[in-house]
Amino acid sequence: MIELNPKRFVNAAAKARQVKLYVRMFAWRQYQSRTPQGHVYTVKFETKASGVYASCNCAAGAKNLPCYHVASVYPIDIAIVTMRQEHARQFEQPHEAHRSMPPVLVKPQPPSLGRINGMEL
Ligand SMILES: [Zn+2]
Repeated sequence: MIELNPKRFVNAAAKARQVKLYVRMFAWRQYQSRTPQGHVYTVKFETKASGVYASCNCAAGAKNLPCYHVASVYPIDIAIVTMRQEHARQFEQPHEAHRSMPPVLVKPQPPSLGRINGMEL
């Protein structure tokens, strides 16, 4: 895994600005990037407590070196993760709050009329 440290990604980011990649998301935080030469590389992101990490199956990424595939795809990943978090904040949390409410509210009951043969009336 490559730690996404901006200082290490200066050269990769510069190349990413020059080369136009075609990016396709195929799973959550997993992308395929296709170079103009037709090479396809898989870029994956993972957030850990210590930061964001990426992997790429290109020659540099296999050696855990920053590559321009990761540098190109990372802004897309940030945008998608941010949109997903915003959607969860707006739409899913109110539903979660609703689901956690008690399903039956206790209604006040009329006073008991007494008991006959052990049965409550
Ligand atoms: Zn790469």
